[in-house]
Amino acid sequence: MSIRTRFAPSPTGMLHIGGARTALFSWLHARHHGGQFLLRIEDTDRERSTEEATRVILDGLQWLGLDWDEDVVFQSRNREAHVAAVEKLLAEGKAYRCWCSKEELDAMRAEQRAAGRKPMYDGRCRHRDAGPLDAPHVIRFRSPDAGQTVVRDMVLGDVVFDNRELDDLILMRSDGSPTYNLAVVVDDAAMGITHVIRGADHLNNTPRQMQLYEALGLPMPSFAHIPLIHGPDGAKMSKRHGAVAVTEYREAGYLPDAMVNYLARLGWSHGDQEVFSRQELIELFDVRDVGKTAARFDQDKLDWLNAHYLRAASPEALADDVRARLAALGVTDTESGPDLVRAIALLQERSRNLAELASGARFFYAAPDEYDDKAVRKHLKASAWPLVEDFAREAAALEDWTAEAIHVLISGLCERHGVKMGRLAQPIRILVSGGPVSPPIDATLALLGREETLRRIRRGIEALKPAV
Ligand code: GLU
Repeated sequence: MSIRTRFAPSPTGMLHIGGARTALFSWLHARHHGGQFLLRIEDTDRERSTEEATRVILDGLQWLGLDWDEDVVFQSRNREAHVAAVEKLLAEGKAYRCWCSKEELDAMRAEQRAAGRKPMYDGRCRHRDAGPLDAPHVIRFRSPDAGQTVVRDMVLGDVVFDNRELDDLILMRSDGSPTYNLAVVVDDAAMGITHVIRGADHLNNTPRQMQLYEALGLPMPSFAHIPLIHGPDGAKMSKRHGAVAVTEYREAGYLPDAMVNYLARLGWSHGDQEVFSRQELIELFDVRDVGKTAARFDQDKLDWLNAHYLRAASPEALADDVRARLAALGVTDTESGPDLVRAIALLQERSRNLAELASGARFFYAAPDEYDDKAVRKHLKASAWPLVEDFAREAAALEDWTAEAIHVLISGLCERHGVKMGRLAQPIRILVSGGPVSPPIDATLALLGREETLRRIRRGIEALKPAV
């Protein structure tokens, strides 16, 4: 039997990294077994579901490279099947209509609380005479009163639920809309899902869903509940801890391969290996190896992995993204400046993400309009200027404008003046880039070009050298 997993997000907001990780685990499980990974948009809550949220989810999955098989299923279009399942249960006496008013339910719960019991529906409409069909009412599942339901979870192991703790669940609301637990069972069965992999926040729904599978005579899938992601302080990961939407990571310049690698390791491990290609993940992933406890989000590790993937990427593959980021930084023309691919090659090993890379590349295309004050005070003292001026003069006459030739020129000058390389490299760096950080000075100037280098140095001398 072919393995079929699914991701079933509700399109009511962003794609949360927790959701992305659940999707990744489902995807990996399917791909590992040569099965299918399906996508179902659970859009039955018409008030809160939006097309925009659906688009964000699809975009996010595509960006991460989590491709799905078959057409996307929209839950709202399966209404007939949901209604048919409820009618079947009603006809078989496995569900019943309930006319309890809100006031009655509130009073019931208040009594239960007063008696020190857990508030839950007591099934009173099971035994009542039927009310008028056109008066508002819900349809409830007649759940077993005794025994246990055991979830044989592939991650958490056996989780035992006492059936007396599970009250008669609403299957259909008074407006005729199906509830989550009904719809999810009917749809998972219709889609032939063999393995339901989802967040541990759904564990309490699972015994109810298992009872529904049985009542409907549907084949039961296997279940795996993935523990949640916690922030460094041990509380559930939220905005307080940093970015939680996949789009935020994309905007901040994280690479999809790094995100996938990072999310896979968040709760899953294979020995002490940290870096996994997609192919390795597919080969090695087993949902049974997912940890039983919440995983801690670790920003430093994500940054480390991202830097790793950024170094390993081909600069050509990054060019479109970097060009767009430069445009957002006001650099609309990269064609008339230094070769962007070479600039990326210089910067990719010293950047943590694409945003950093783009801001580090900006000066190649835009002369500094101001200089870092602190750096100027530190590196452009009076003694620096003769050295800078010597450099400008000799650079103008340099035969080859290559990194090697520039290196020889700078080291020769520093030797003559009896100073370390940084005494000249830092002033030049500030004059050409505006600040004290750039790739190695020889490669930087080689890429910037002789004319532009000298132009910026002369401008800097005019702007910063104190008149004597
Ligand atoms: N729509 C549910 C959610 O987003 C899906 C739960 C499930 O995977 O069964 O939480």
